[in-house]
Amino acid sequence: MDIKNNIAEITNTLNGSNARLVAVSKTKPNELILEAYNAGQRIFGENKIQEMTDKSEALPKDIEWHMIGHVQSNKVKYMAPFVSLIHSIDSWKLLKEVNKQAAKNERIIDCLLQMHIADEETKFGLSKEELHEILESDELPALENIRITGLMGMATFTDNRGQIRKEFKSLKAIFDKVKGKYGGNNISWNELSMGMSGDYDIAIEEGSTLIRVGSSIFGSRNYDN
Ligand SMILES: *Cc1c(COP(=O)(O)O)cnc(C)c1O
Repeated sequence: MDIKNNIAEITNTLNGSNARLVAVSKTKPNELILEAYNAGQRIFGENKIQEMTDKSEALPKDIEWHMIGHVQSNKVKYMAPFVSLIHSIDSWKLLKEVNKQAAKNERIIDCLLQMHIADEETKFGLSKEELHEILESDELPALENIRITGLMGMATFTDNRGQIRKEFKSLKAIFDKVKGKYGGNNISWNELSMGMSGDYDIAIEEGSTLIRVGSSIFGSRNYDN
C-alpha cells in the first residue's frame, strides 16, 4: 500500500468540495498511522475506545482523534480527556454521559448524532423520531459540556450505487431540516459525516463534510469489528 499516494488521491477528489478526510485507522499499527501523518494527515478515526486511547498516547499530540464506532456509556471516561469529535451518538443516555465526562475534564466535546439510514437492521443509529426527541428535550440546553455539530450516517452495504445515493440524499434532507429548525447554545450545524471507501465520491456529491475512509488508504483489514 502506498499510503502517501492514496491520501493524495483522496485529498484530490476533495478539492473544490467542503469535505475533510477522516483516515480510519482501526486495527492498523502505529507505523502505518505515522506514514499517513507524515503525508500530512491529521484527523484519524477509530472505533474502539481502548485502541484509540493507546494510539493517542503513543502518537503525535497534534492528531485529532475521532470516535466513529458504537460507544458504551461506561467507557466514555477513557476518551473524554482527548477525543475531538464523537461521530456516533445514538442515544440520549450516551449524550448525557459524554456531557458528564467532558465536564469532569473541563472540556466541551463536539458530537454528531448518528442516524439510521441503511436498510440493514444491524446498523446503529437514531430514527427520525428519536432525533427530534433529543433535539426537543428540555434538558438539552443544560448540557453545557457538549456541542452538537452535525449528523452522521452509514449507507447500506450494497453494490447498488443508486440506493446509496438515495440514502445519502435522505440524510442530507434530515440535516437541512434540523438545521432550519433547531438551534441553541450547544448546537451548531456544521458537519455531515457520510461516505466510506466504497462510496465517498457519492457522499461528496451529496453534501458530505467529513468522509471516513479506511481501506482505500491503509488496505483491507484482516479482521473487522
Ligand atoms: C470502518 C469504518 C469506516 C471505514 O470503512 P472503509 O470501508 O474501510 O473505508 C467508516 N465508518 C465507520 C463507522 C467504520 O466503522
